[in-house]
Amino acid sequence: MSPNPIMSAQVLVLEDEPEVARLICASLADYGLQAETVPTGRELLKRAQRSAPDLCLIDLGLPDMDGLQVLKELQEHAPCAVMILTGRNDVSDRVLGLELGADDYLVKPFEPRELVARARSILRRYQRGASDAPVTVSPGVAHFNGWTFDPGRHHLLTPAGEEVGLSAAEAALLHTLLRRPNRILTREQLLGERDVDPFDRSIDVRISRLRRKLDDDPQNPRLIKTVYGAGYLFTAGVTWG
Ligand code: CA
Repeated sequence: MSPNPIMSAQVLVLEDEPEVARLICASLADYGLQAETVPTGRELLKRAQRSAPDLCLIDLGLPDMDGLQVLKELQEHAPCAVMILTGRNDVSDRVLGLELGADDYLVKPFEPRELVARARSILRRYQRGASDAPVTVSPGVAHFNGWTFDPGRHHLLTPAGEEVGLSAAEAALLHTLLRRPNRILTREQLLGERDVDPFDRSIDVRISRLRRKLDDDPQNPRLIKTVYGAGYLFTAGVTWG
């Protein structure tokens, strides 16, 4: 039997308060998740580039830089799954975090069990995305409307050959859409979860961000269409090679 990939996942925790950092690590450890903490944004960015973690938990209030800036730089240089931890009960920060590519957020103070449940849910989502493709065969590269996407490397190229930066969450979403073009995909299918909260805006935020990156007019989208009450539809023909 192979080891449980969630159990062997590497988690980095960016938290400047030692007491909170200890609590988070202990909670994750109780459920078999190995985590390491770093106290500053700069340190997290350095570490993430070196060790390619599976998941980063990022506190927004930090001594050296804004947590949202850390998230932005992380997605540019070392994309990985991200959960935001915030004491700020500020909706705009949370929405901005999701727009910047975070997968989830948790408002402090939180129940350790909820933290662990959400972390595991994110890790499962990525693991399932990865395990959908046969392991021994390269997933190949997708071509649509002159664009090229390499899901293995999160590489998106415009028809002019320019590279577009994608967060890990955006790349996973695009991959899902490209695997099933011209079919309506529900929010649950796109998030890879059952029972998605109808008020959860994260998928809509991610879709609108992806549209902008694909030069799809958000007011009148032609590539990723909204099917009201049902989900989203990727309209282009896709070839894999
Ligand atoms: Ca803090």
